[in-house]
Amino acid sequence: MAEARTAEEVAARARRAADLPDLDGAIGGCFACPRLVAWREEVARTKRAAFRDQEYWGRPVPGLGVSDARIAILGLAPAAHGGNRTGRIFTGDRSGDVLFAALHRAGLANQPTSLARDDGLTLRATRIFSAVRCAPPDNKPTPGERDTCAPWLHRELDLIRPTLRVVVALGAFAWAAWWPALHAVYGVRPPSPRPAFGHGAHWSGTAVPEVLGCYHVSQQNTFTGRLTPQMLDEVFTRAKQVAGVD
Ligand code: SF4
Repeated sequence: MAEARTAEEVAARARRAADLPDLDGAIGGCFACPRLVAWREEVARTKRAAFRDQEYWGRPVPGLGVSDARIAILGLAPAAHGGNRTGRIFTGDRSGDVLFAALHRAGLANQPTSLARDDGLTLRATRIFSAVRCAPPDNKPTPGERDTCAPWLHRELDLIRPTLRVVVALGAFAWAAWWPALHAVYGVRPPSPRPAFGHGAHWSGTAVPEVLGCYHVSQQNTFTGRLTPQMLDEVFTRAKQVAGVD
C-alpha cells in the first residue's frame, strides 16, 4: 500500500479512499508530518513504565464505529499512551474510560470500557474520530499539522455523509476543525464570525449535520469536575434526539 508522505499525497490518497476500511488502511500508512511521526515512534519506543511489556501501536489511529453512523464524535488527537499505544481511538486511557462509560449509559456502546482493539467493543449509530490522527507532543498539533491531516477527516465525513445527523465536538480544537470540514465536505460556507465553542454550544445549518459542543473528556476536565458524567449524559441525550436515535 502506498504511503502518504506529503500534504499533497494525503489529499490525493484520501480522495481515492473507496470506503471506510480503505480509508482506515490508508491513514495507517501516513508519514506526512515529520514532527508527529518522530513523536509517535519515540513514545512507542520509550513507553510508559506501566506498559513497558506491551508493544505500542505507534502509528496514526483511524476512526472507530459503524459506517452508517448518525452521530459522530470528533476529538482532538490520539493520546500518547492511549490510542498511540492500543491503536484504537480513546482506548486504554482515562479519557476513554469516561467517554465509553457515557456512551454505554446512552446505549451507544455495548460495554462501558475500551481497553484494547480485541476487547469486543461495538458502537451503535456512532463513529468516533479525531481531527489529527497522530499523537502530538503536549496534545498540541501545529496549525500546519492540523491542515495536513484534514483530508483524512474530510473523507471520513464524506463517507458517512448519507446518515450523519449530528457531530459532537469534544473541545475547542475539534469545534474549530468542523468549520473547514463544513466547507470541504458539504460545500457550505462557514458562518462568520465562527460560533463560539462552549459546553452545550449548538449550531445548525440547512441540510448539514448539527454540531454540539462538549468539554473534552480529558483528565484535566473530568478530575476537576469541569465535566461531569451528568453533563456528558445530557450531551449524548441531545445528540440522540437530534440524530433520531432511540
Ligand atoms: S497527523 Fe495526520 S497527516 Fe500527519 S502524519 Fe499523522 S495521519 Fe498523517
